[in-house]
Amino acid sequence: MGLSFITMKDVCHEYPLGKVVVKALKGVNLQIDAGEMVALIGPSGSGKTTIINLLGALDTPTNGEIFVGSLNLNQLSRGERIKYRKTKVSFIFQFFNLFPTLNVYENTEFPLLFMPVPQKEIKERVLFALETVGLGGLAKRRIDELSGGERQRVAIARALVTKAPLVLADEPTGNLDGETAAVVMELMTKINKEFGTTFLFSTHDPRVMKYAGKIIELRDGRVAKIQTS
Ligand code: ADP
Ligand code: MG
Repeated sequence: MGLSFITMKDVCHEYPLGKVVVKALKGVNLQIDAGEMVALIGPSGSGKTTIINLLGALDTPTNGEIFVGSLNLNQLSRGERIKYRKTKVSFIFQFFNLFPTLNVYENTEFPLLFMPVPQKEIKERVLFALETVGLGGLAKRRIDELSGGERQRVAIARALVTKAPLVLADEPTGNLDGETAAVVMELMTKINKEFGTTFLFSTHDPRVMKYAGKIIELRDGRVAKIQTS
């Protein structure tokens, strides 16, 4: 096995549901290199969100091992998990998860408020991220006054400011029309190329899959197919 950035080894995950358990992942093996742009596809319920949550250390697998960089996620202490989520990984969601009444600047700087970054550098990073996503002119605009596409670009800017090497995006275009989805995917591709950020995004949409260099297809909690373009 080479030196992959991400490795999932025989990962199983079960959710308790009343008196039964739901077997969401049934032995997932996959590897992703640093700088890859990867799509996670498969029908609803196939395990996409579960994989994203596990890689983000939002949940711990029932069985198996997950490595990200030099870290074995299962072996992190509570404090190390928090640090991992703050510094190594950024999240982008289908429903944006922004603060609706705060403005674009405030939403973008939010993750930096919990990091030891000096005020001056916070400002530099936020303005740079907003320029990168083409929202330099809207810094003072409230989120609830933006379109869906603009909101997702704010979420991308927020993912950029921490300089995390891994971005996990769960159906990032699920709530956008086709044209806006293309703008968002082109922006993610640009960031992937320019900064070498590794992207893992889930999607149902064939027009969105084509932005990936690798497509991992899940079926019923297992990897059914891996396609590299
Ligand atoms: P996808 O994102 O591909 O739609 P998920 O990872 O959300 O799939 O779900 C995988 C399986 O796990 C599904 O059968 C789903 O119903 C189940 N599942 C997901 N989250 C929970 C939960 N919190 N409690 C119980 N079952 C869950
Ligand atoms: Mg899902």
